[in-house]
Amino acid sequence: MTIYRATVLDTPGELGRPHGLRTDSDCALVVHDGTITARTDIATARREHPADEEIDLREGLLLPGMIDTHVHFPQVRALGGLGMPLLEWLRLRALPEEARLVDTAYAREVAKEFLGGLTTSGTTTAMVFGSHFPQAVDVLFEEAEQTGLRITSGLVVSDRILREDLLLDPAATLEAGRQLARRWHGRGRLRYAVTPRFSLSTTDEMLAAAAELFHEQQAGLAGELWFTSHINENVDEIAQVRELFPDATGYLDTYARHGLVSPRSILAHNVHPQPEELTAIAAAGAAVAHCPTSNSALGSGLFPLREHLDAGVQVALGSDVGAGTGFGILKEGLQAYFMQQLRGPAGIQLGAADLLHLATRSGALALGLADEVGDLSTGKQFDAIWVRPRSGGTLQTVLRHADDAEDTLAKLFALGASADIESVWVGGQEITHHRPTAVGLAPEGAA
Ligand SMILES: [Zn+2]
Repeated sequence: MTIYRATVLDTPGELGRPHGLRTDSDCALVVHDGTITARTDIATARREHPADEEIDLREGLLLPGMIDTHVHFPQVRALGGLGMPLLEWLRLRALPEEARLVDTAYAREVAKEFLGGLTTSGTTTAMVFGSHFPQAVDVLFEEAEQTGLRITSGLVVSDRILREDLLLDPAATLEAGRQLARRWHGRGRLRYAVTPRFSLSTTDEMLAAAAELFHEQQAGLAGELWFTSHINENVDEIAQVRELFPDATGYLDTYARHGLVSPRSILAHNVHPQPEELTAIAAAGAAVAHCPTSNSALGSGLFPLREHLDAGVQVALGSDVGAGTGFGILKEGLQAYFMQQLRGPAGIQLGAADLLHLATRSGALALGLADEVGDLSTGKQFDAIWVRPRSGGTLQTVLRHADDAEDTLAKLFALGASADIESVWVGGQEITHHRPTAVGLAPEGAA
């Protein structure tokens, strides 16, 4: 039972809406059992909840928790491998590291580093690409449960092209996936996602096995499973997929014809889609994870955001660690903005409110969690980050001179980093070690 007093910025409406930024410069959020039960002024909050602890966050900004819709658990230590296109980077950087997770003790170290990376960057919800090894996926879920983060993840499956030690046959992956889903799906804040690595490394038989797991209703499962994979990232990859699936109409069809493109599907990248694929993704209600630092680092291309939005596709942000350059979703927002600027007239001029939306509410919509998280309205979970710029730093300087809330937010996206995120809560539970000092019980009736 806590009252958080803060300057609150969030985007509860639709992406791209004028005046989409909601700002409250002295707001009181009353949080009971992890849920925001009132959003009001401090005098009202104190009067109605005189026994609640009060936490004063006015020294910084309170934002919804960041949502990362595409990030790889086994690639933390592969971060920073610059200078290669996708397929070379996978072979030389990502896959050798992913193979090390066969050692469960190693996987546990990596899981801790991974979850620490999310937490310290202010990410409270993520769609996580798991490991090729079932035991490593168990380890990720175990550690995620400890942190309290909202994690959707699953066993990554492949049966061709990758190095031998990462391959499994379709029947074995189906059985391993079933067991993992039974253990973890719907347990607390955890959910299971069926995760073929990409069509390039999965035969039609493997995709059929993925579809069988995705569609089957298992006794004891809390709700339906999720699906995630990669699509249309790199021109060489797309050409090879076309050769491997000569009877498919395109990359999307390799998944769609198995019924894997649905409102519970997140497709990562989609840098080079066909127009009819965008129409089909929108019609299916699936979402696309846009990963701008990864697309830049691997030279994959400039994301066609306007074409996605015009087609009605739900887009959100992904860090794509380790091809992306870190866990910070603020940075992904800035890079998404850069990318649209570089597209010239074909790009979309993104405002600061759009960047916050892409980093928070868009992700909640993509992940089917918009009734619970993504903004700080009454009735939502208290998933929030407190941004408090370092004393004497440039961010602090420019925020002091911001014209208004939109300008404040633009400055935050331009200059903000993980180090500026002081505290992180999920469902009202503080998951960082920097609990802000409580100012004590408010005197009854005090204004
Ligand atoms: Zn990826």
